[in-house]
Amino acid sequence: MNKSIAVVGAGIAGLTAAHRLKRAGFNVVVFESLDRPGGRMYSTRRGDYVVDLGTIGLLGGSPLLDELVAAGGLNEQFAKTSPMVASIIKHGVARTIDSAHPVRDLVGTDLLSLGTKLKLGRMVIDLLRNHKLFDSENAIGLAALDIETVTEYAARRLGQEAADYLCSPVQRTVWMADARANSVVQFFWTLKQMAYPMYTLSEGNGSLPVALAKTHDMRYLHAVTRMENDESGVKVHWQSNDANFPSGSQAFDACVCALPPPIALKMAPDISDVQRKLFEAIQYTSMLAVHFGLRNRPANRETVLMYPECEYPDMAAVFVNTNKAPGRAPANKGSLSAYFQQDWSKKHFDMSDDALIALALERMRPFYPALDDNMEDVFVQRWPLFAPAAPVGIYRLMEDYQRSLKANPPSRLQFAGDFMPNAGINQATASGAGAAERIVELFR
Ligand SMILES: Cc1cc2nc3c(=O)[nH]c(=O)nc-3n(C[C@H](O)[C@H](O)[C@H](O)COP(=O)(O)OP(=O)(O)OC[C@H]3O[C@@H](n4cnc5c(N)ncnc54)[C@H](O)[C@@H]3O)c2cc1C
Repeated sequence: MNKSIAVVGAGIAGLTAAHRLKRAGFNVVVFESLDRPGGRMYSTRRGDYVVDLGTIGLLGGSPLLDELVAAGGLNEQFAKTSPMVASIIKHGVARTIDSAHPVRDLVGTDLLSLGTKLKLGRMVIDLLRNHKLFDSENAIGLAALDIETVTEYAARRLGQEAADYLCSPVQRTVWMADARANSVVQFFWTLKQMAYPMYTLSEGNGSLPVALAKTHDMRYLHAVTRMENDESGVKVHWQSNDANFPSGSQAFDACVCALPPPIALKMAPDISDVQRKLFEAIQYTSMLAVHFGLRNRPANRETVLMYPECEYPDMAAVFVNTNKAPGRAPANKGSLSAYFQQDWSKKHFDMSDDALIALALERMRPFYPALDDNMEDVFVQRWPLFAPAAPVGIYRLMEDYQRSLKANPPSRLQFAGDFMPNAGINQATASGAGAAERIVELFR
């Protein structure tokens, strides 16, 4: 097939679209404003340490993810993480729940009173009743559940103690989000995904987009400024920071715009009213993180230490990377990453590195003895766009958008990204594959 397709954005959504389009026989060119692929799926090596600066873990159970890992030649790197061990802090003490023995540990823990534990059965029933709705590619049916925040649901069905010491820490660990602001739909999604095993890539999760990008015609340092769509094709305009390629424009038969909606809105303003409503409503949150390399591996068992909102307005979670996955540090060394809550991160985005590191250390010292003496590397990571917020009402707009995609013939300009219905790698890849499929249909 002699059609040329542009993919704008070399995050995992764009690279999935590129992979599927190339497999279908199209000529694909990928535009990326940075000098590297991966966007928010990004890892780096610093001395002895491999640090996942973006995506922390990959949710198993997705044939598409398996396909991409195989296409990147990374099967040998792709491994299940050890079962997640979570410690939730209550009144300054970390209480541990091992996902290998969730019932035993939940029954035995003094994190929750007996009354609260009994009420958790209601949450299991609510999840089982609706679990089929939570699927990476589907938003239809979610609006009916999208009527209250996580905190409102928890207080109504499970009681305040569960809201404070279970639901809030879960929301904060997976989304670094405030349970009072996000829809209960996101919480159910999160619970469902906890049933799947987590995977990582031993050279860092960012090695997947790096491997996929090697198989495509990549235009790095090309910041796309506009995508113009008409009946004959899509014209892509860019500004180049690459001396080999001047700024310019090129006509393609079709295009996948795989940029987060706040950016996509500026570059491709010619969209339907339904899509505009969704894209204008989607607000991306920010995130600050501090990554630590330790001379000696901490003895702590947990994969993640969870800080509840009611006791800690700033710190959301610490991941013990060396308990999460192989390959993050040599056997004797340790690696920890501290993540700050989204709204707090947005408000304190310009805080100095020194002040942020000092705050992270203050929050972590009670749980990781001799941290200061043990530190051999520390640095701050800032994500201005971390993940889309999920306020109550957003799933109605997602449903409307998805119905409009099904009802109308495919456009030459398709959109992909982690904007619906549950932000993350499985969703971003599903949306990239969906955009590619609609373009294949267009030229069938
Ligand atoms: C710290 C962190 C932890 C996370 N943890 C997890 C996790 O454990 N599990 C999980 O499933 N998900 C996780 N996520 C979310 C996951 O990484 C994202 O959902 C996913 O990577 C989004 O992919 P994307 O392709 O939609 O967007 P992006 O990765 O944002 O890709 C967009 C790309 O477009 C490029 N771009 C922007 N503007 C232009 C322009 N004008 N022209 C050309 N290119 C442009 C960007 O540089 C970028 O490469 C995490 C994210 C972060 C930041």
